[in-house]
Amino acid sequence: MERIWIKDIVGKVGQQTDLFGWVDNRRDHGKIIFIDLRDRTGICQVVFGPWSDREIYERAQKLRGEWVIKISGLIKERPADMINKNIPTGTVEIEAKTLDVLNESQTPPFEIASDGRDSSEEVRMEYRYLDLRRPRMNTNIALRHKVVKFIRDFLSDKGFVEVETPILTKSTPEGARDYVVPSRLYPGKFFALPQSPQQYKQLLMVAGLERYFQIAKCFRDEDTRGDRQPEFTQLDLEMSFVEREDVMALNEELLISLVKTCAPRKKIQQIPFPRISYKEVVEKYGVDRPDLREDKNNPDLLAFAWIIDFPFFKKVDKGDTSHSEALAKEWTFTHNPFSAPKPEFMEQLLNKKDVAGILTSQYDVILNGLEIGGGSIRNHKPEALEKVFEIMGFEKERILKNFGHMLEALSYGAPPHGGIAWGLDRLVALLANEPNIREVIAFPKTGDARDLMMEAPSELEKNQLDELHLQIKETKKKPSSRS
Ligand code: ASP
Repeated sequence: MERIWIKDIVGKVGQQTDLFGWVDNRRDHGKIIFIDLRDRTGICQVVFGPWSDREIYERAQKLRGEWVIKISGLIKERPADMINKNIPTGTVEIEAKTLDVLNESQTPPFEIASDGRDSSEEVRMEYRYLDLRRPRMNTNIALRHKVVKFIRDFLSDKGFVEVETPILTKSTPEGARDYVVPSRLYPGKFFALPQSPQQYKQLLMVAGLERYFQIAKCFRDEDTRGDRQPEFTQLDLEMSFVEREDVMALNEELLISLVKTCAPRKKIQQIPFPRISYKEVVEKYGVDRPDLREDKNNPDLLAFAWIIDFPFFKKVDKGDTSHSEALAKEWTFTHNPFSAPKPEFMEQLLNKKDVAGILTSQYDVILNGLEIGGGSIRNHKPEALEKVFEIMGFEKERILKNFGHMLEALSYGAPPHGGIAWGLDRLVALLANEPNIREVIAFPKTGDARDLMMEAPSELEKNQLDELHLQIKETKKKPSSRS
């Protein structure tokens, strides 16, 4: 007999069926045993009674929470006074004929039936595979899939090509610290994990791809504050022969239709999205990503807006030890060194005049007080990109060492281009009404950047270190909270 999902049983009254899943709950009423059976799609009531063989009945008596079972039985309408209005399958139940125990389970460290909001973060992360069994977590992961699938279909229909870019790459000065990977074959040399596919996507424009996107993993070795993760996911895209307006219009259309399809309960406060200049937003709200919701008690209200006209450069903060800040002398970029200025400021950039007054083509999209995406039109001429690095005080030698490949690529007929990247985890979290992106990532790191389930990061064997030409400096070990 073919297996069916629990969510589909309601329409199949009178049929014999096989069901597979986990024991959510067992209630023993003497002559009758009730099991709540759970699969990914829902929960249904299974009943063992006088119609079940003695042996089957006794087997049912032994069932415990989270055992994995297969049952076959008859789908029956429940008597009117037994209907459970709290679950979608509450009008029916399964009269069990057979029962196979496919696997037993230890008692889980927490209750799977709860939504997990009151379990400790540490235990949830250590037993993430059990935490994910919770219907709430299942639903979040399924929503994420729906969002990603919608994006893929939408962009494919508009002529975008999805391209995977490397994970082993070179350090890029995008503002954060890199995760690095030692090279076995080249002693003393390192790859870096990408902070974003920024350079590759621009190189794909030079390569004539014209419309690229990727659901891209990005890695930033920052102190994990609140809602940050060392690795996170972007929707990354880039387009050729476009102006700021084109990228913003496409993304606005994508966001609106995505919300309609994937989170139909949500209401977008204002369409078209309001546009506010950086100057205005800071004057009015004191921050560049204000929460613009008119009614902040309504969790289903989405207040999108574009923030534009940011200054290109800011004074270097010498307290900041991130790679790009440490290298820059007086000025550094506010968003992205590869951005072009707004067209009317190009002369100013090329002449390095009134640096503080140059506005960038950068656009950020904000939602309910969070920045969910940002991008820009890029400098597609090498001399303009070079000026950015000169303003940052990089010597000619460093510019060539770090960015020679980009300058050279741009010199081979690079088309005008621009793009954007969204923080996908954050968008899904907002659509799922979750307070933290960890709730929409299958296997996130803890707030202090560890994987408690796999116990990573972890030490290497001496021979692995030798092969990688690495020697560990003696440092005071931080006490591990697990030992
Ligand atoms: N690569 C940029 C980022 O990760 C986004 C972009 O400009 O496309 O913030």
